[in-house]
Amino acid sequence: MDVFADAIKKLDRTAKLIREDVSFLHEPEKILITSFPARIGGKTIYLKGYRVQYNSLLGPTKGGLRFAPQVDLSEVKALALWMTLKNSLAGIPYGGAKGGVAVNTKELSKEELENVTRSFARSISRFIGSDIDIPAPDVYTNPQVMAWLLDEYEALKGKHEPAVVTGKPLILGGSKGRDKATARGCYFIIKEVLKKGDIIIQGFGNAGRNLALMLFDDGYKIVGISDSKGGIYDPDGISVPELIKHKEKTGSVKGFKGKQVTNSELLELQCDALVPAAVENVITKENAGKIKAKLIFELANGPVSDEADSILSDAKIYPDILCNAGGVIVSYLEWVQNRQGYCWEEKEVNEKLKERMITNLHLVQDEAKNLNCTLRQAAYSLAIKRLISAKQLRNH
Ligand code: NAD
Repeated sequence: MDVFADAIKKLDRTAKLIREDVSFLHEPEKILITSFPARIGGKTIYLKGYRVQYNSLLGPTKGGLRFAPQVDLSEVKALALWMTLKNSLAGIPYGGAKGGVAVNTKELSKEELENVTRSFARSISRFIGSDIDIPAPDVYTNPQVMAWLLDEYEALKGKHEPAVVTGKPLILGGSKGRDKATARGCYFIIKEVLKKGDIIIQGFGNAGRNLALMLFDDGYKIVGISDSKGGIYDPDGISVPELIKHKEKTGSVKGFKGKQVTNSELLELQCDALVPAAVENVITKENAGKIKAKLIFELANGPVSDEADSILSDAKIYPDILCNAGGVIVSYLEWVQNRQGYCWEEKEVNEKLKERMITNLHLVQDEAKNLNCTLRQAAYSLAIKRLISAKQLRNH
C-alpha cells in the first residue's frame, strides 16, 4: 500500500466535508534525500536517509526520526503530513516534518548505530536548526540517538544549540517527562473516555510499553500485548511489570504466560479498547471487518488505512493526531525550556500536558458533534482550519 497516497485520501475526505481547498497540503515544501556512508561490519556502505519538511505555515517544522528497514519516501511524507496536522491540532507553534533512515538497527552494534547517526546528522545538518526544523525520536531511535545527533550538529556549528533536537537525555537539556509523554498523553485521553475495561495493545516499545504500565497501575485489565515477534493474550489480565522483565530477559513478549497469538490475531480479539502502538496500516480493508473492539485509540501513527476507516463504522476511533500528540507537546515544552535556559519539574510538565490533551479532546468531540462526523474528521477539520487561517494571514 502507498502510505502517502492513503494519507492524502484521509485528508481529502475531511476537506470535502468542510468544503475547503487543501491542495497546498498535497505535497511537502521540501524533501532532502541523502545517500550517506556508514561503517557497518568493518565496511563502508551507503545508506538512504530522508528528511521531509512538509509545511511551515505555523512555525519551524518538527517531527521524529525513524530508523527501520521499511523506511521510504512515501512513509516519511505521510508521517510528515500527519505531523503538520498534529502540531496544528495541538495548538503548538510548529509546522510538520519527519525523517528516517532505511536500516535495521537490530543488526547494528552500539558503535555502528552511533556511526550511522553521526553520518546522517552530517548529511542533514544544513537542513535543520532550532528555528528551522527540529528532529525527535520515533520508531527505533531514542534519547541516546538524539544525544549523538546533537553532539555532531553542535560540533559542525561550533556552538551549543540544545533546542535543535528534542527527546534528549535530561543531562543534555532534555525535559523531565518527555520519555513517557507520548504514552501519558494517550493515557489521559483513555482515562477521560473509558473508566475501566479490557485493553489490548499492539507494540511494546516506548509508546506501547509505557502506556501498558500506566493503565495497569491504574487498575485497567491489559488482556493482550504484542511486539514485532508476536503477542500474548490472557483474559485474566497480564502483569505488565512482569512482562517488562520477561522482555528484558528474552528480547520479546513471546513466551510469557497466556495464549501465544500472532500480531494479526491479536488485533481481532475481544476487548473494550484496542490500542495500536507499533506501525502504520495494521488495520486495512482485509481485517477491518474482523475487529471486535468498540473503541480504538491510535497511539501509532496511521495504524488504520483510509478504506478500513469506513468499514470500521461500528468502532469509535480516537485518531492518531489527537492520541499521540503527547510526545510532540512535551517536545515543544523541552524546546521552550532550552530556549529559556530553564528546567521545569516533571509535575509541571505533566500538568501542562494533561491540560492540552484534555482541552484538545473536548474540542475534537465538540467539532464532531457540530459537523456530525467522525472524530478523525473533526480532528482533521480543526487542524486544517488553523493551517488555512495562517495561510490567509500570511497572504500565501
Ligand atoms: P519503538 O521503537 O520504541 O517501539 C516500536 C514497537 O513496535 C516495538 O515493540 C516493536 O517490536 C513493535 N513493532 C515494530 N514493528 C511491528 C509490527 N510490524 N507489528 C507489531 N509490532 C511491531 O517506537 P515507539 O516510539 O514506541 O513508536 C511506536 C508508534 O508510536 C509509531 O507509530 C510512532 O510513530 C508513534 N509515535 C511515537 C512517538 C514517540 O515519542 N516515541 C510519538 C508519537 C507517535
